[in-house]
Amino acid sequence: MSKHYSDAMVIRCADDRYSANREFEAAFLSILKKEEALDHFQAYGFGAGLEVINNDNLRLWLDRIRLAKSLGIKRIILVQHLDCGAIKDVYKPADEKAEREHNLDIIYSTRNFFAQNAPGFAFTAYLQNLDKFEVIN
Ligand SMILES: [Zn+2]
Repeated sequence: MSKHYSDAMVIRCADDRYSANREFEAAFLSILKKEEALDHFQAYGFGAGLEVINNDNLRLWLDRIRLAKSLGIKRIILVQHLDCGAIKDVYKPADEKAEREHNLDIIYSTRNFFAQNAPGFAFTAYLQNLDKFEVIN
């Protein structure tokens, strides 16, 4: 009998292009392999971290942190992506460079949120495009 185990909560956008055989799947799986987190708990949000830093969702994310602790999760992996409908809707970036900057701001704000509300959790962030990704430090 196998035992399900994961030490990671992965936060990514709810974009349907993450579904099997869709545009974002391959790069996302590469991130999970790099993190050795193929077995993980996933939390979707429109714009990924964009939902984490929205004050209206504070209680939801505090609940998720509590649940993650109870499940023994010790790290959070945030995956932002370019060409994000949620980010375009909120920020209306003029071009991909501007959209990238908004993603970086979201990543840093999300990192701060978890540093304050989930101390002791490791935090790693990625920015992915259709076929590639980069680690954001
Ligand atoms: Zn998105």
